[in-house]
Amino acid sequence: MKLLRLNSIPAPLLELEAYQIGEVLPGPTLIEWGEGELPPIFISVLLHGNEISGFTILKNLWRKLLTGELKSQHPLIFFIANVEAASVGLRHLPSQLDFNRVWSGGDAPEALVAQEVLDISRKRQVGWAIDIHNNTGKNPLYSCINKLEPEFWDLAHFFAPHIVYFTEPHEVLSMAFSQFCPSVTIEAGTPGQKEMIEILTDKLETLLTTGAPALSKLKARPPVFHTIGRIKVASSAQIDFNFNPRPEGDLSMRSDLVECNFQQLEPGFVLGYAKKGHLWVEGNFEQDFTNDFLEISSGEICVKKSFVPAMFTQNIPIIKSDCMGYVMESI
Ligand SMILES: [Zn+2]
Repeated sequence: MKLLRLNSIPAPLLELEAYQIGEVLPGPTLIEWGEGELPPIFISVLLHGNEISGFTILKNLWRKLLTGELKSQHPLIFFIANVEAASVGLRHLPSQLDFNRVWSGGDAPEALVAQEVLDISRKRQVGWAIDIHNNTGKNPLYSCINKLEPEFWDLAHFFAPHIVYFTEPHEVLSMAFSQFCPSVTIEAGTPGQKEMIEILTDKLETLLTTGAPALSKLKARPPVFHTIGRIKVASSAQIDFNFNPRPEGDLSMRSDLVECNFQQLEPGFVLGYAKKGHLWVEGNFEQDFTNDFLEISSGEICVKKSFVPAMFTQNIPIIKSDCMGYVMESI
């Protein structure tokens, strides 16, 4: 794996879907486009190969930039990350590391590419870094930041009304960029979700043409949620979403679980039913927070201490390999 560096936007890319990028680009590619005195804006997409909205947003911007309809005040740096995984619609290939867990160093090919991208970006004195992702489940558009500083807050709020602050996992792109510029991870709903693509295209057009003034116009900042931990499920557990007090398998969760994302859940709220165990709350450093946030008795899984969930998903492979959702508290 080698980083390809370009100084122009290959026109054939405009006609391709994310899974076809490999026909034009052999692998991870950094496109440094435009000149000028102002700090460059860095935009990354496809760190996860199946999260395709960012590439559609780039094509929207590129079309207008190439025709001159959109004039960016800032030089731009585009990073198209996992071309190989995108070609098969996977987060990453089984042989690869997760491209959003390699930004704190290491010798893996993905980590070396990340290091090169960081070195170039630092040298070019990037002004803002924007990393676009998708998720599963029903979530609003939201921004994640890794530093609680005004410039980060403003950038996050510019893109989305909901802001999440996290420090783990610390190996993500936005964390590495936060060492030298305001950075944000944007969660643009499910892959290809149209209205979010449109919103973000508009937002980026504004940022490109107005730059910092677009951010400084913001007045009140919305609350920030801090991720405390994740709701984990045993890989052997049988799960359904029938909300059945007598589960046929091991866990029977609410059928409307994904509707709870970004809603304050109060004590006593029933998330589901369990035969025994199978589900726990794991802190950022693998602490057991189950008894802090949940009351699991007589087969009922109840909220014990109020929290706000994010990324609740009903996708069983994702639940088992990652988690059912995140537990957050407002700061
Ligand atoms: Zn992602």
